[in-house]
Amino acid sequence: MTFVKESDEILDLAIIGFGPASVSLMVALHDHSEKPLRNKKVCVLEKLPYFSWHAGMLIPGSKMQISFVKDLATPRDPTSYFSFLNYLHQHGCERFSGFLNLSTMEPSRYEFHDYLCWAAGHFKDYVKYNANVTKLEYDQSLDLYRIIYGDQQKVAKNVIVATGGQANIPEPFSSLQSPQVIHSSGFMFDHSQRLLRSAKHGVLVIGSGQSAAEIWNHSHNVIDPKLPLSLAFRNLTLIPSDSSPFVNSLYFDSHNSHWWYNLPEHTRVQGLKNGHTTNYGVVKESLLEEMYREEYMQKLKYGKVYHNFSNATYVDSVEQKQDHVLVTLASKLDGTEKKVTKEFDVIYLATGYNHASSQEILSSIFPNSHDIHIAENYLVENTPSKNSRLFVIGISTYQHGIGETLLSWTAVRAGELATQLFGPSKPTARPFDP
Ligand SMILES: Cc1cc2nc3c(=O)[nH]c(=O)nc-3n(C[C@H](O)[C@H](O)[C@H](O)COP(=O)(O)OP(=O)(O)OC[C@H]3O[C@@H](n4cnc5c(N)ncnc54)[C@H](O)[C@@H]3O)c2cc1C
Repeated sequence: MTFVKESDEILDLAIIGFGPASVSLMVALHDHSEKPLRNKKVCVLEKLPYFSWHAGMLIPGSKMQISFVKDLATPRDPTSYFSFLNYLHQHGCERFSGFLNLSTMEPSRYEFHDYLCWAAGHFKDYVKYNANVTKLEYDQSLDLYRIIYGDQQKVAKNVIVATGGQANIPEPFSSLQSPQVIHSSGFMFDHSQRLLRSAKHGVLVIGSGQSAAEIWNHSHNVIDPKLPLSLAFRNLTLIPSDSSPFVNSLYFDSHNSHWWYNLPEHTRVQGLKNGHTTNYGVVKESLLEEMYREEYMQKLKYGKVYHNFSNATYVDSVEQKQDHVLVTLASKLDGTEKKVTKEFDVIYLATGYNHASSQEILSSIFPNSHDIHIAENYLVENTPSKNSRLFVIGISTYQHGIGETLLSWTAVRAGELATQLFGPSKPTARPFDP
């Protein structure tokens, strides 16, 4: 049976999802000496109506957790037009000098978002926005992939799935389906900010990672100092993220993805466990210091900490009331379970991300997502296809290491994918020419 219609244009490459990983890929294709963007048929499908990068977490004052040098292109080719420095340069010499005067390697998330939008904007003719891909099918008779979004489809020889992470909403909140329960990814959006600023019972933040801490800190700064605000988490305390040089080198140097992939499994698993404090459930030390200071100042000013931290705490039950959510929090710190029930106007879940989107898209080829074998070069090696190829990026931490879902080796990985798809590129850097 063939699903492909005669009118279907056959793409050389379809990319699903247009986050930084895919923008970086388009940059690598642009920079490639064989000019695939000019000579091949390439299309990107993105579910959002326009490019954005974690827009709901563009909290004023938030900063990147990575050097701007690890941008979309520089680690692959420092002479690329799409480097962060050239983005500054393109916005005028004052902007360039102004940024340098900040003396920082970690720009604001606001500025990096603007950089990503700038880069993404160059590829607008290749991107189909509002295209929520729900399914990928393989047509055996034609050896082609069919990508389905809404009532439309694209047909391609090669497909890259780069759908990143989706908001993870744990129980009991997923069953509650309350408009007053908001995942961190929507924190800065209007509805959320309205709830926050009009809160009269209290605000609850759940989680112990960077997003949870940033949300607590921002809420602390904008709501009434005596309105209850709690950060509830299971750990005994908030833990700083480790970004020391040896650790950074091991987990985030871009060439290391291959090293991680080729480790014996038990060594890799141990390494991933040891590296947990680089990225998961941890907070930048400077922010922890600020939060601690704020807690101290509350004791000093009011004799009571209205904006507090509930450690060793988990959510026992939730109940939607007319204008608030009733939450029972439980703690077993001293061995016996203690429960306390409180009213909240808004609950923020900084409970991380999952890969629901890629699982859904791939489910007609791999009903069980554990069956997907991602090779060192990101090729799915156990597809039924002959010459057409399927790549999946951004979901293989277990194989490629912690950097795989982050920005650290996006640029280098993009270059490697471009080479696999369209052959090696001639060096683009201007040679030394006395
Ligand atoms: C608040 C926040 C800050 C972060 N800061 C850093 C940082 O400083 N440094 C760092 O290294 N990492 C950071 N990260 C990690 C983050 O994962 C990466 O920065 C980056 O977003 C990964 O890019 P990506 O393209 O793989 O995935 P994503 O950015 O998640 O992009 C995936 C894209 O696919 C689209 N999509 C999803 N499903 C579909 C579908 N079915 N059909 C069509 N399109 C779809 C999405 O809309 C999205 O545009 C941060 C994460 C968060 C949440």
